Amino acid sequence: MNPVLSQSLSFLAWVVYGSFFEWYWHNLWMHHPRSPKEAFRGHTVVHHGLYRGDDTYFVDEEKVEHILLKPYALPAIVLVHLPLILLIEKFLPGTAIGAVLSCFLYFVVYEYMHWNMHVPRKHFVERFRWFQFLRQHHKLHHRYMMKNFCVLVPLADYMLGTMITEASLARQKAEREAALATGSTPKRRK
Ligand SMILES: [Zn+2]
Ligand SMILES: [Zn+2]
Repeated sequence: MNPVLSQSLSFLAWVVYGSFFEWYWHNLWMHHPRSPKEAFRGHTVVHHGLYRGDDTYFVDEEKVEHILLKPYALPAIVLVHLPLILLIEKFLPGTAIGAVLSCFLYFVVYEYMHWNMHVPRKHFVERFRWFQFLRQHHKLHHRYMMKNFCVLVPLADYMLGTMITEASLARQKAEREAALATGSTPKRRK
């Protein structure tokens, strides 16, 4: 296969993997006190303690604290995945560079996006509708901690049934109210 194509396909496959990785890491380590407990303390206790799903979600640039992950997180994530990347390279040559690049860029863009989601400052990225969607997606996570685990690519939230939007919340509320009014059981929806 053309090496540019194989590296590009590898890059995209690792972006998809990245969505599931951030879902599992965010859910199982950042929101459950497993070892290393620093992940839980730094995220659930400190980050969610400072920034909630209300006006405190936004912070002035000069008052920012505890938004970015620890500086060792980036090399740690790349190193943890390196054996798997090299194993795949053995069977599917021409994929490792795309994979490493994907891990690196996913992390950097994640940090950049998460920062901008909490810090409104008329930065150019805030103009895009997809950014506003992701910002609202993450704001709902700060209101409902066990929903919307993905910050950057919400594919895993969608696939694993943890995705909520203002529209889905309004729909559920309307269904609950209709059920209360008629005395029937509301349909369960993901
Ligand atoms: Zn956040
Ligand atoms: Zn969280």
